[in-house]
Amino acid sequence: MAAVVLVTGGSGLVGKAIEYVIEHEPEGSRFGKRPGEKWIFAGSRDGDLRNPEETLKLFEKYQPTYVIHLAALVGGLFANRERKMTFLRDNMLINDNVLHTAHIKGTKKVISCLSTCVFPDKVEYPLTEEKVHLGPPHPSNFGYAHAKRMVDVQNHAYKEEFGCNFTSAIPTNVFGPHDNFDLKHAHVMPALIHKCYLAQRNNTSFKVMGDGSPLRQFIYSRDLAKLFIWQLREYDSVEPVILSVDENDEISIRDLANSIVKVMDYPSKPEFENEINDNGQDRKPASNAKLMSLIGPDFKFTPFEQALEETVTWFLQNYANART
Ligand code: NDP
Repeated sequence: MAAVVLVTGGSGLVGKAIEYVIEHEPEGSRFGKRPGEKWIFAGSRDGDLRNPEETLKLFEKYQPTYVIHLAALVGGLFANRERKMTFLRDNMLINDNVLHTAHIKGTKKVISCLSTCVFPDKVEYPLTEEKVHLGPPHPSNFGYAHAKRMVDVQNHAYKEEFGCNFTSAIPTNVFGPHDNFDLKHAHVMPALIHKCYLAQRNNTSFKVMGDGSPLRQFIYSRDLAKLFIWQLREYDSVEPVILSVDENDEISIRDLANSIVKVMDYPSKPEFENEINDNGQDRKPASNAKLMSLIGPDFKFTPFEQALEETVTWFLQNYANART
């Protein structure tokens, strides 16, 4: 029988990237579609996963063999800080419904998506997979972080009690086509792309909150998509895997803003609003040593400038319909 892969959150940034890779990589290749495989990309219109009945209906409709579980209430620093309870509850409901339904329906494997936000605030860097539960997360996003951490706890409990093959991925900051570019709720990169676009269009200054010093590791959504497909096909352990570029590839918000200015041909420099003491975490480098040791040295990440250019091009071409 053909394998059905259900991607929850299939209409979002990461889901759209998996769809792109599955459609564009050669059939039968490492990241391409396998013969007889059927991929379903479900958004919230296909069922609200906070609701157990709708979750069950979705599973009964598609009978997935495998699930890549991406659906989540996702937001940037400001959204996370302002709506901690909503981020906690919505994500706990979504995750609990998906894992429970996958268990009762006999889904062969589920890969759920965590985030580096799950890691403790005070921790020795670089982040590695064993450090998830070693202390409280950063206060700015503890609702989202705790909900995501529980997935790892659930995965272990499902394995120990029922023998389920449930695991998780921990991506760093993702960017790419189909991101959320909404100025208030977006992550830092899409928010800056949108701000720079408006500054250019309105002939105003490009203002960046904070002093530009925090460092972040960014992964291109289409690279991340390949890593999810790899994990689905080639990784069978309950322990999470950090899906990230090398820990030495951190970029400061200042350099990011300068790169955006360059790619968008904005004629001035970004202005950093240093007086706003709202930087978020200074840095949180994550190690991709486990990933690279398993996937092998042949895997190549897209160069950052190229990925940024592809993202900006998509944003400019889709401004009218993008999440802005
Ligand atoms: P998006 O916000 O782009 O997409 C979220 C997806 O979840 C959409 O498909 C959305 O459906 C779906 N969704 C949200 N709420 C519900 C619900 N109640 N029922 C069903 N579906 C729902 O997120 P990303 O693609 O950026 O994130 C994917 C995963 O990656 C998430 O688990 C996130 O936590 C994780 N992650 C993201 C990072 C990032 O930088 N973006 C970093 C690290 C981890 P619809 O749009 O149709 O409403």
